[in-house]
Amino acid sequence: MGTKQFKAESKRLLDLMINSIYTNKEIFLRELISNASDAIDKLYYKSLTDSNIKLSKDDFKIQIDVNKENRTITITDNGIGMTEKELETNLGTIAKSGSLAFKEENEKKEDIDIIGQFGVGFYSAFMVSKEVQVCSRAYGEDKAYCWKSKGVEGYEIEECEKEQVGTKIVLYLKEDTEEENYSTFLDDYTIKNIVKKYSDYIRVPIKMEVEHQRPKESQENNSEENKKEYETYTENETLNSMIPIWKKNKSDIKKEEYNSFYTDKFGDFEEPSKIIHTSIEGNVSYNALLFIPSRIPYDYYTKDFEKGLQLYSNGVLIMDKCSDLLPDYFSFVKGLVDSQDLSLNISREMLQHDRQLKIIAKSIEKKIKSELESMLKLNREDYEKFFKTFGNQLKFGIYNDYGINKDNLQDLIMFYSSTEKKLVTLSEYVERMKEGQDKIYYAAGESVDKIDMLPQVEGVKDKGYEILYLTDDIDEFVIQVIFNYKQKQFANVCANNLDLDSKEEKEELQKVNEENKEMFTIMKEAIIDVQGVRFTHKLKNHPVCLTSEGAISVEMEKTLNSMPNNQNVKAQTILEINEAHPIAEKIKNLYDTDKEELKKYSKILYNGARLIEGLNIENPTEFSNMICDIISK
Ligand code: ADP
Repeated sequence: MGTKQFKAESKRLLDLMINSIYTNKEIFLRELISNASDAIDKLYYKSLTDSNIKLSKDDFKIQIDVNKENRTITITDNGIGMTEKELETNLGTIAKSGSLAFKEENEKKEDIDIIGQFGVGFYSAFMVSKEVQVCSRAYGEDKAYCWKSKGVEGYEIEECEKEQVGTKIVLYLKEDTEEENYSTFLDDYTIKNIVKKYSDYIRVPIKMEVEHQRPKESQENNSEENKKEYETYTENETLNSMIPIWKKNKSDIKKEEYNSFYTDKFGDFEEPSKIIHTSIEGNVSYNALLFIPSRIPYDYYTKDFEKGLQLYSNGVLIMDKCSDLLPDYFSFVKGLVDSQDLSLNISREMLQHDRQLKIIAKSIEKKIKSELESMLKLNREDYEKFFKTFGNQLKFGIYNDYGINKDNLQDLIMFYSSTEKKLVTLSEYVERMKEGQDKIYYAAGESVDKIDMLPQVEGVKDKGYEILYLTDDIDEFVIQVIFNYKQKQFANVCANNLDLDSKEEKEELQKVNEENKEMFTIMKEAIIDVQGVRFTHKLKNHPVCLTSEGAISVEMEKTLNSMPNNQNVKAQTILEINEAHPIAEKIKNLYDTDKEELKKYSKILYNGARLIEGLNIENPTEFSNMICDIISK
């Protein structure tokens, strides 16, 4: 029988494999093992209904043999095998949708990197082989056939001897080059590692003759330790563990087993703070094993960090970091998903549009959320620890995309409470709101201590209200996006529109402010940078404060201006002076007696209020000089 030509599109895919500059060539083994395992599955399922098949479950295996002299790797399975015609159609033509689409994408994009990520099938053998032989005997046939190819030139199929049903694939490795050391694949150690890495969970044993050494049992010299002689012996070792931990029964897995699986696999040295092991059966079925780390990964805030879960198709790793499985706000979650509903031959682009994958992703998101909710409910301490580590991620999740996810996440965030002196949720706050209270009060600042010192905070606390302390830069932006929680709006205690006074109190204040209107005009003109000056009754013991007007608060001004290429945003502020404080009398006095001195005082009061807010002052020297002048009078 003469040489046959590959079909045009197969030829191109093959060409791509042969000339692949892809560094991750080791995946050829994963592909061949996966094919072998599929073939075994097929025969096994047949055996369930066909009593002519004498093999039992334990008889199935995949054997790897390495021959260093001949530079060959042989992979043998006792699966369903291929007929002559199947060899022809399966290996001579790539007509399956996955591979075809893969090829098309590659023609368009020349994105060679795609090779490593997905099942690319049998042809990947040509990444490492100069010749490939496939000898196969199909179940139910008495003849066996051998398919041989040295690459794009074509292939031959001829009859051969093969006693057992199944397939034997022999790879003749390429010669080493300067860039590529193919001989490494002749190493027991390399093969073992590749199998462990990609195919550990294949459910049939993958075996290989491995050489071991043991002390020779000699009759003499028993006493002399250092003269011990060794002999080598070989053992047909099973390289894969066969049962993935995520497919085991939850009750059979000890916490340590989970923990060491996590630290091994995800390169963390600390145990995870939460383990989520779940198995879903439905219109898509999957197993997932997820972990929430107890610390922030060292590269979490760098460009190098890639979110994602490992994706397995029936025990075979098809993607290391499938980012589509995790929303950004849960990007800290590590773990894996295994589903039999995903095809192995699927490319990254196709995966993105895969309906099954989308369903899985949604379901995983829900699961993570409900686990966090129950942790919050049942294990407050753990949750607070988690929140201190990854809470900002949740806050960004609320803020990003114009708040599209806020309903999903707003019950997972916490703020420090002035009354509870610990982190509380919005729902806890709302539940214990005072009668008649219709707003959620908050104050923003650098730290709990600093917020505590704000004059406005004291006034509101004094009236018996709980205040949430917003200490992270993002917090106020998050609050603005949430806008209202359970129909309650948020109110910054440092804002102009804080409406805590009774009608009479308001009227009274308005009257005083009206009476002193002209004085305030002079003060405002002296200060320049404020929208206005006025008396207030909310300050209890403190003399002054700055109150913001409009959408940008003083804290937000600080945050926005600390960002790169800031627009120099300014919060609009009003200087408020405590009418009950002696300073009020003093300025009224100056208004009548010494307007120049009043201007000086205005500047001092304003700059003092800025300092209280943690804002810098334009001319510290002038400020200090003015104070010294007054003191030394
Ligand atoms: P895929 O496995 O995605 O279908 P491949 O190119 O890897 O694509 O394989 C093509 C086909 O060849 C398989 O679908 C299968 O029918 C057949 N095949 C490959 N390897 C074996 C094997 N070891 N035993 C039986 N059939 C095989």
